[in-house]
Amino acid sequence: RKLSMGNGAEKGENFEACGGSRIMVFVRLRPMGKKERENGSRCCVKVLNKRDVYLTEFTNDNDYLRLKRLRVRHFTFDSSFPETTTQREVYSTTTGDLLEAVLEGRNGSVFCYGATGAGKTYTMLGTVENPGVMVLAIKDLFAKVRERSLDGNHTVHLSYLEVYNETVRDLLSPGRPLILREDKQGIVAAGLTQYRAYSTDEVMALLQRGNQNRTTEPTRCNETSSRSHAILQVVVEYKTRDASMNVISRVGKLSLIDLAGSERAIATDQRTLRSLEGANINRSLLALSSCINALVEGKKHIPYRNSKLTQLLKDSLGGSCNTVMIANISPSNHSFGETQNTLHWADRAKEIRVKGCEVNEEVVVQVSEGPDQAKLVLELQEEN
Ligand code: ADP
Ligand code: MG
Repeated sequence: RKLSMGNGAEKGENFEACGGSRIMVFVRLRPMGKKERENGSRCCVKVLNKRDVYLTEFTNDNDYLRLKRLRVRHFTFDSSFPETTTQREVYSTTTGDLLEAVLEGRNGSVFCYGATGAGKTYTMLGTVENPGVMVLAIKDLFAKVRERSLDGNHTVHLSYLEVYNETVRDLLSPGRPLILREDKQGIVAAGLTQYRAYSTDEVMALLQRGNQNRTTEPTRCNETSSRSHAILQVVVEYKTRDASMNVISRVGKLSLIDLAGSERAIATDQRTLRSLEGANINRSLLALSSCINALVEGKKHIPYRNSKLTQLLKDSLGGSCNTVMIANISPSNHSFGETQNTLHWADRAKEIRVKGCEVNEEVVVQVSEGPDQAKLVLELQEEN
């Protein structure tokens, strides 16, 4: 299944006359956990035909045997992944095509959305045995770069950052909060580490270390906060020469985003601190929702400025970008409310239209520039 690239690349229901394309929305159901099985959870979600999701509402009864079915709701998405789906299947269906676009100098982004425990981090980062989208994308990227090494010169840079409590932090080199600035490429976090990556091997360890740097709950040691958003940015620069031998540079950016838990911040221990954090998390997620609503309604003004998260994601949502949403859900009837919210949200996200996706390309050196060009060609040769 090809992603719609806008600009007439693909016609059909995905494509709007104005040249926009809609975002792709996927749902991933995780398997029932051991604890859930032990505490008598009942499965309330079924995925059929890789598209249809059926959500069953049971009567609110603690006695498993007396549970009755109240109603069943039906949703449909670009693809829906049942609990048996492998990490590679999720990666190749959701992100494989995006990577091609990024190599051509376009932007792309993949979001994981869902309640805490629904499988967002598993989907994005995964484990050493079962690496997730972030790791598989980088692996795939290096393989593709190797295949294309004769056409030009690619460089890959990684940045990994967190938005927690309306503060932006560098996960690759933790320290003081980063300040967001607007430059000609859009909003950037000043001083953010751009790690030059050469191979896949180093990346899993790097990302896992980065993930450990995510803010932890003070009350629950070692547990990653469900209120932190993590964003991995993979920037691929491709330098080559066009027909007239000008040196051109194309820059594509892939953003992979593990959003904070979408549940409402209730049942908190240290009330004051928590309510502040809760409010701020709601602020980032609420801002994301209102941007999505504004995009769905085709509004001129999209309120990106309302939170750090939406500022950072400006070029990944409404800009010239291919966007993918993965909604993560749990099968347990104990998570029914959250699952229902997530499915409603994902259903609404299907309506978002984005502008056609442009190539970020510029001529770095004109042939007529003579000596400079000679220098750059030499540089190119050296790098190769
Ligand atoms: P979240 O990041 O949304 O809070 P996690 O990704 O941490 O949730 O998942 C919660 C638990 O469920 C983890 O122990 C994780 O390993 C497990 N899990 C999630 N998705 C899957 C899956 N598809 N297959 C197997 N285990 C999963
Ligand atoms: Mg997580």
